Amino acid sequence: MSKSLYSLRMHANRGQEHVSGAERLLEFEQLVETASAMLQRALKHPRGAAERISLKVESFGDAAVRREALLPLSTHAVDDWRQGRELAAELLVRHGIARRVVTTALAALAAGAAPGGTVMRGAMLVDSASGRRLEPDPARGVRVSRMDLDLAARHAVESLLGGQGLNNPRVIEAWVLASKVALYPQVIAELCWSDDPDYLTGYVASARHGYQRITRLKAAGDRIGGRIFFVAAATLPAELIDALQLEPILFSAPRPNTLEQGLCAN
Ligand code: AMP
Repeated sequence: MSKSLYSLRMHANRGQEHVSGAERLLEFEQLVETASAMLQRALKHPRGAAERISLKVESFGDAAVRREALLPLSTHAVDDWRQGRELAAELLVRHGIARRVVTTALAALAAGAAPGGTVMRGAMLVDSASGRRLEPDPARGVRVSRMDLDLAARHAVESLLGGQGLNNPRVIEAWVLASKVALYPQVIAELCWSDDPDYLTGYVASARHGYQRITRLKAAGDRIGGRIFFVAAATLPAELIDALQLEPILFSAPRPNTLEQGLCAN
């Protein structure tokens, strides 16, 4: 008989504004401790106090779970966020995404891509040829969930990153999320920087070039962040959105060459 696994999701907001969110895929024994840590995070978030926090738990058999390997990780050190954004744009253009599409999408993210210039709860989906936004709800966007490291992988990843001064839950969460997004051939590349005013590192990720962290993608104190999934021209988004939200994926320990050149702590 297959064992049950649990999707655990947290979302916190203040009025219409997104404050914090998190998603994990866990065994029963991990649920209470992880839910409590999520609650603490929402209550003490640097974006400010939440007015409403929801936690959602869903179970399913682990036979439905797909097992995959994490993307290779590398880090580009830059002097400031302007240099970081130029580099991010260049990396995206190298994936074949039209430069005007990259420029417009980056500007939308930087201005707050939800209506009213606020932070979206999930990601923008952008057609890489036309630049058209494809997410059905521009405030919610597409929220990727049901992904995690398996237990053995978590230990391996923590010790791998620990040796580089990078053992930070944010790095792991983003690495796992980016590795799930890159599994779908409709996605050409992803761009992310955090909405946490204190966390300045972001990344460009893809199946082709891995998870490339960029040490500065925004100015200290900036509360605007977000994610953009650039998709192939004429992608019909419904199937991709379903897979990103619903397909459960567990990642196994990274291969020994997963950490590439140019690592630096941040
Ligand atoms: P964070 O890295 O948690 O600071 O998130 C930065 C931004 O990425 C958020 O403001 C959301 O717009 C987006 N985001 C966060 N988590 C997800 C997710 N699970 N799926 C899609 N987008 C997300």
